[in-house]
Amino acid sequence: MSQYDTVIRGGTLVTGTGRFKADIAIAGEHIAAIVAPGTALDGGRTIDATGKHVIPGAVDVHSHHREPGYTHKEDIITAMSACAAGGVTTSFAMPNVQPPPNTVERLDAMIELYNSKSIIDWNINAAGTVPEEIPGLATRGIAAFKVFMVVDTGRSYPHMPGIGIHDHGKLLEIFETVAPTGVPLMVHPHNQQLMTHIEEGFWKRGERDAQAYAKAYAAYDGIIWDTACALLLRLQLATGTPLHLLHTQSIGVVEQLRRARDAGQDISAELNPWALFLGNDWNNIVRMGSYALSYYIPEKNTQPLWDALADGTIDIISTDHGPHTKEEKEPGWTDGWKAHTGTPSAQFYVPLFLGAAVDGLISLERVVDLIATQPAKRFGLARKGRLEPGCDADIAIVNLDTTFEITDELVLSRIGYTPYAGRTTHAAVETTLVRGNVVYENGKVVGQPGWGRQARPGA
Ligand SMILES: [Zn+2]
Repeated sequence: MSQYDTVIRGGTLVTGTGRFKADIAIAGEHIAAIVAPGTALDGGRTIDATGKHVIPGAVDVHSHHREPGYTHKEDIITAMSACAAGGVTTSFAMPNVQPPPNTVERLDAMIELYNSKSIIDWNINAAGTVPEEIPGLATRGIAAFKVFMVVDTGRSYPHMPGIGIHDHGKLLEIFETVAPTGVPLMVHPHNQQLMTHIEEGFWKRGERDAQAYAKAYAAYDGIIWDTACALLLRLQLATGTPLHLLHTQSIGVVEQLRRARDAGQDISAELNPWALFLGNDWNNIVRMGSYALSYYIPEKNTQPLWDALADGTIDIISTDHGPHTKEEKEPGWTDGWKAHTGTPSAQFYVPLFLGAAVDGLISLERVVDLIATQPAKRFGLARKGRLEPGCDADIAIVNLDTTFEITDELVLSRIGYTPYAGRTTHAAVETTLVRGNVVYENGKVVGQPGWGRQARPGA
């Protein structure tokens, strides 16, 4: 009998702090040893990673899997298939599903669904909108609560009732109630009062298409984001609640985050791929309309965002994977407020960011830290996000010596398209393992529904 179940040979390991050639021995679900290349190891299966890079699988703490309730857009199996093909080994679900997991009973039902269907490891960010349910929800192994500050005008999704709070007093109550649980609170920053005024101005002028919508979000250099961020940082200071700020995309937010970090506040901040690969180029919004999400993030923000990723002001990259059907996007050509906002990205963000590292926009180590090590650490996943003995064998083997063209044909999400189609990147995911089990190889998802397990904090 072999001592190890799988051995990965010949690769270059990349961690958050460095890179080195080594072989990895996996026993059961864990990394058992990391040894000098060529060391004799008695392994059941050998995976040849010669010429490839080996990284910890991505931990995506922000993904919209759409089940239950919106499975015409996506479901757990299609979302997790896209993740497996994209080098994602843990994916956290956002709560804007029907019914939303804002009570213990609803969360428990959703946990059952994931237990039977998920291919990769997972967790669920419960909706922290019902204060009396918060203590109970916190006992279910969740890694975060989520609230949106958005109220949709002109459509009924994705910010439907049950998941949003825009009253600042209620928001303070939620911070106060979450604080004693110790569970981080994720917030989508948004100033609804300012947005209401701004969008009415656009509508009065007869501007309603996707370009008007994109411009409305960018009004006054991102005032709806900056003012919401200021409030959230102050609520964090008041209550001590660990805050995870979503959608970092403006210079104003970056500057506030820097000050809050210097002051030692308990915060983390997330950037989504659309902020650097999609909405930050006006041509994409003209060409794709609502398919480009469609916030406009003026080009002057791009370099400050890369700088904030490099220096740790932004410490997490997650996807905000948000699939919608073409039928739900098409109305955006004439009315951007009617189109459902969100865009799929789980399958391609790891290649896009690794490719950016190959192109010299950021270091490879920093990308690994941002997509794997830091999210695992922030949300208490003690065995994830690192390549070290004792850690879960959550691993992606990637080719950084290639030109990979993203196409709609490759898309595993139910909707069958990607806004990144036609783009090339110098990185491709070749093999993905979740707790030692190969879930993706040779261009095929081979993992089975039910293999995925809840990634509970502390475990
Ligand atoms: Zn989202």
